[in-house]
Parts: sequence; C-alpha cells; structure tokens
Amino acid sequence: MRLLIMGAPGAGKGTQAKLITEKYNIPHISSGDIFRQEIKDNTKDGQLANKYIIKGQLVPDELTISVISKRLQKEDCNHGFLLDGFPRTIKQAHALDQLLAKLDLKLDLVINLNVSKDLIIKRLSGRRVCLKCGATYNLNTNPPKKEGICDRCGDTIILRDDDKEETVKMRLDVYENQTKPLIKYYSDQKILVHVDGNLNFRDTFKEVVKFIGDLDGKH
Ligand code: ADP
Ligand code: ZN
Repeated sequence: MRLLIMGAPGAGKGTQAKLITEKYNIPHISSGDIFRQEIKDNTKDGQLANKYIIKGQLVPDELTISVISKRLQKEDCNHGFLLDGFPRTIKQAHALDQLLAKLDLKLDLVINLNVSKDLIIKRLSGRRVCLKCGATYNLNTNPPKKEGICDRCGDTIILRDDDKEETVKMRLDVYENQTKPLIKYYSDQKILVHVDGNLNFRDTFKEVVKFIGDLDGKH
C-alpha cells in the first residue's frame, strides 16, 4: 500500500507514521528525517537544506523533490511506503504524481491529521527529540523514563532548533499558505480521509487503522 500522512507541524505525523510503518511493515519516508540525516552527515544537500530549516522555511522544491525521488526508487519501496512530510507544496504534489505515473503506481490513501492550533503550540514547545536514533518525546504527554535521556539509545534529548517559538510561528504560516491547499488537491482525487489528531496517539491510531483496513478489500 502506498500511503501519505499530512497535517500541520506538531499534528503528530511522526508518531502515527512510526505506528503505521511498524504495523504494516512498509518503509517510513520522512523528508524531515532525511534532511536531518543529511545535515548530520554534513553533505552539500544537508548544508543547503539547513539554511531554510533553521528559519522555519521550506527547503526549495527542486532539492526536496530530487531527494525524495531517489528515496522512492530504492528497492524497499517496491511493495509500498508511507510518505510523511512530503509533498508540502502543490508543485511537490505534481512532481510526486508524475514520478508515480512513470513507475505505473498510485497513492492509495492520504491521511489528514486534524489538530487545533492551541494543541499544536503546546505539543511543539514540549517536544524533545533524540538526534541519534530519531525517537521523539513530549514533556507533557510522553516524557522519557529518565529526565533528558532517550529511552531507546541513552543519548541526550533536545529541543529542535526549529521548534523554538518564533520558528514555530513561521512554520505554521508556511503550512497555512503552502501545504493546506493539498487537502483540496487530494480531496479532488478522492483519496483523502480526515482523522482527529486531538485525541491521544493510541485513539488516533485506531482511527487510522480503520481507514487503512478498508483498503484491503480493494487490493
Ligand atoms: P514538522 O512536520 O514537525 O514540521 P519535519 O521534520 O517534517 O517537521 O520538517 C522539518 C523541516 O524540514 C521543515 O520545517 C522544512 O524546513 C523542511 N522540510 C521537510 N519536508 C519538506 C518538504 N517536503 N518541502 C520543503 N521543506 C521540507
Ligand atoms: Zn535515542
């Protein structure tokens, strides 16, 4: 199955994406994670992407599309994937449609996570991440067992630079202006479903699973 998860920053995409990809055994393709890895490896792409990321702006479409196209053409994507954080602009959505058409593939389902703005701000300010293994925590709702330390790998967890308040505001504006139009785009393609992301992550996941389960009959 070929899935896409959408939602504002802080909507809980990453958490749901992990649960989905574990349950359905498909690769998790997160543009944000890919960029963070490139930045850590200090590659040319990483250096360029970082200039935009630290300001809360979108990385240019051309670079983003090229990075994701390469990833989607790796063998582990042959039997499906979950996209998280891409596409984020109409231009990226067109590029994705073109790439999939070339490979004779189609998206099966686009999951839109709806979350209120207040909750988004609360979640992002409490979010902590482990840069070593990619685990995410929330000081309010999902703290690590030992303060400041990643449960999974023992590294220190941090507030992402782009989760600082000013940058968050910018990212929310970017979402409203550039990413929200994708809701209509996929709704017109009749593959969009809405899931309530204001719930706790387990209840949200139950809703997600219901929609994915409905796909089975179609394959
Ligand atoms: P979040 O979903 O919480 O905003 P991500 O990890 O998905 O965080 O993205 C972090 C940053 O990486 C974004 O603010 C943006 O600068 C950049 N980025 C990620 N995906 C894309 C994309 N598809 N297009 C452009 N920039 C992107
Ligand atoms: Zn870790």
